[in-house]
Formats: sequence, structure tokens, C-alpha cells
Amino acid sequence: MLKDVTLSEYTSFMVGGNADHFIVVKNEKQLVSAIRFADYEDLPFLIIGEGCNLVVSNAGFRGVIIKNGIEFIDVVNEDNDKVVVQVGNGINWDDFVAWAVENEYWGIENLSLIPGSVGACPVQNIGAFGQEVSDVITQVKVFDTVSNDIMWLDAKDCEFGYRSSIFNKKEQGRYVILAVEFSLSKLAKPCFTYRDLANEFAYKKDVSIAEIREFIIDIRNQRLPDVKKIGNAGSFFKNVIVSESGFKNARSKLSEFVSGEQLAKFDSFRVDLKDDKGMIKIPTAFLIEVCGLKGYRKGDAAVFDKHALVLVNYGGARGNDIYKLAIEIQEKVFEMCGVRIYVEPMLVGFSEGEVSILKG
Ligand SMILES: Cc1cc2nc3c(=O)[nH]c(=O)nc-3n(C[C@H](O)[C@H](O)[C@H](O)COP(=O)(O)OP(=O)(O)OC[C@H]3O[C@@H](n4cnc5c(N)ncnc54)[C@H](O)[C@@H]3O)c2cc1C
Repeated sequence: MLKDVTLSEYTSFMVGGNADHFIVVKNEKQLVSAIRFADYEDLPFLIIGEGCNLVVSNAGFRGVIIKNGIEFIDVVNEDNDKVVVQVGNGINWDDFVAWAVENEYWGIENLSLIPGSVGACPVQNIGAFGQEVSDVITQVKVFDTVSNDIMWLDAKDCEFGYRSSIFNKKEQGRYVILAVEFSLSKLAKPCFTYRDLANEFAYKKDVSIAEIREFIIDIRNQRLPDVKKIGNAGSFFKNVIVSESGFKNARSKLSEFVSGEQLAKFDSFRVDLKDDKGMIKIPTAFLIEVCGLKGYRKGDAAVFDKHALVLVNYGGARGNDIYKLAIEIQEKVFEMCGVRIYVEPMLVGFSEGEVSILKG
């Protein structure tokens, strides 16, 4: 167990004050001991992976940070069609995707290059390019801090939704994920629902899983900042899901100031991004852009100039600078578009009131 560890070194945003205690746990026994230590000292604990979805305040964390470090990839079952594989929480997500692609196991290739650990992938049900990890998760192995038991939760009990699960909603903080079980297909099952992929591959024959991974890595490298060079947490705001009346309300606010072309684009969301329950997805990047905030910078905290959904740290920003910038964006979007946007990353070391403003 380490003391006074600077969390900015453990977050992709490169922000965060000190944690009083910090430990990387390599197996289930160490995990249980770390939680017992926190209990005994009457301290809160927080389990983290690679810190790619965290904004830690300047004040840091007065408790025990427990970092995912259980590493294994075990094939536990297979037949002609599929393979069932259990993976420890400390395996890097993209290393696991690379392993699956190398073995031609289908189902997660579109999730290539998402930063972070396997242990965190169910928390917000990571997704990209038309795939969500919940499509292939069968069970999640957890330590339950209420019953102190280790158990497997069925995927259906994890209540996966868009960037959500019980782990970041109703049971947040209760379960520590130890391992995740996936069922991957041995039969080619390319997912080209995302337009860029359809344009590239729909008319090609026998597209290989490696080609798809390569294409996705290229797109991500073009659009997103390199986490090793520019601090960020990927998409900072969640997309907005509204009913028909919410959509009309936003449209009438937007029609006061956007161009005809932008309004036509907004209208296209109503057709292209409506789900079977009649709810419409409004891409938050569009809202931030029409409010003139793409590339907006306050000191070293900024909206990335190539992607309006991504906030970045150009070097000297601290957790509270990112927080203040996010509040400013949230307020401006609400004032101009009548839509409240909320953030995706976890906020650590902020007060409950501060968190509820940005998280909703
Ligand atoms: C450049 C960039 C691009 C990104 N692109 C995408 C994308 O395309 N799609 C997408 O969905 N996300 C994306 N993200 C977000 C991020 O990659 C994911 O949220 C990822 O799962 C975070 O993994 P992590 O190990 O870093 O988790 P952390 O950031 O360390 O933790 C995230 C949350 O998970 C909880 N957690 C972590 N481990 C455990 C555990 N073992 N048990 C219980 N709770 C746990 C933490 O408490 C925290 O609430 C991106 C981030 C970056 C920086």
C-alpha cells in the first residue's frame, strides 16, 4: 500500500491531487485485504482501472484507491461457432481486442483502441462504431461489498444501457469487478451499421477482421487526441436522448440562430437517429459546435478543435479547471439550445452538489 500518491499520474486527463492510500491489486485475495483495510480505517475506497474516464479534483481523494491489476485471459469453453473467454480486470482493453482479432474471434473488433482496462468495460458499457461490449458479455465476476461474497452476475442482471449499467447507476460503488466473461463468434460477423464502415466495406467481399481493426484504429487516430500526448477522457459529454416534444423545443431555439444548412442537419437526426420507442438521439458534439464552442480554450483546459465532444488538457490544466470549463459549456448549451447536457466521466474528489450538476 502506497501513501500520498499523485493521481494525475494515473489518469488520462493528467489531472488530480493526491490519494491518501493507493494499491494495485494483483489477485482476489489482495483485493479483499485492501477493502478490509479501508473498512478497518473507516476510509472510503475507489476502484479504478487506467483512469481514462475520470476527472479528479485538485483536492484528490481522502481514502484508498484500488487499481485493477488481475491479469489473465482464459478460454473456458468453445465449440465450432463460438469461444467463451474469461478475462481479468487488469488486462488492457485494447490488448484483449488485439488478442481476439489475432485469433479471429468476432464481436469486439469495432471497439479497437478504446483506452482502459477490461475491469471497467462493463461499467459504462463501452461502445463505438455500432458495437457495445454488452453484446458479447455473458457474465461479470464481482466482489459484493454488501454481502462480502464473490459471485458471477448474469449479463441481464447488469442492466446494460447506453453508457450505463448497474455499476454506474443504481448499484454504483457496491460491486468490484474482478473478471468479465465474453462469448465471441468464430464465424465472421462484421458489424457495418456505422456509416463510415458501411462506406468502406459494404461492397467488399471477405473483409477480414484485421482490416476492420486497422480501419478503426486509423479513424480513431485521426479524430481523437493521443492520450499519451494530450490529456483527455474521450467523449466528455453524453449524447442527448429526447422525446418528440424535447426535439421540437430544441429545434425552435436553434432556428433562432443557426444556418439553414445546420437546421437541415438537425432535422436529419429526427429521421436517422430515432429509436423504436420514438426517442431521438441528438449528438452533443453538434450542439457544442453550433454554440461556437469547438476549439474554445480557457487556459490549458479546452474543447478539442477536431472533435467538440472531447475536452482536453493542453498541459497545465487541473481537475477543477476541467470542471469549470464543463460547467460553462453545459450552461451555454442550455441557454442557446434549451437542452441540458451531462458528462460521461466519473468525477472524483468533488462534492455531491458539484457532481450532481454535471452528472444530472
Ligand atoms: C481517447 C479516449 C477515447 C475513448 N473512447 C471511448 C469510446 O469510444 N467508447 C467508450 O465507451 N468509451 C471511450 N472512452 C472512455 C474510456 O475509455 C472507458 O470508459 C474505459 O472503460 C475506461 O477504462 P479505465 O480502466 O480507464 O477505467 P477508469 O477510468 O479507471 O474508471 C472508470 C469507471 O469505472 C469504475 N471501475 C473501474 N474498474 C472497476 C472495477 N474493477 N470494478 C468496478 N468499477 C470499476 C471506476 O470506479 C470509474 O467509475 C475513451 C477515453 C479516452 C481517453
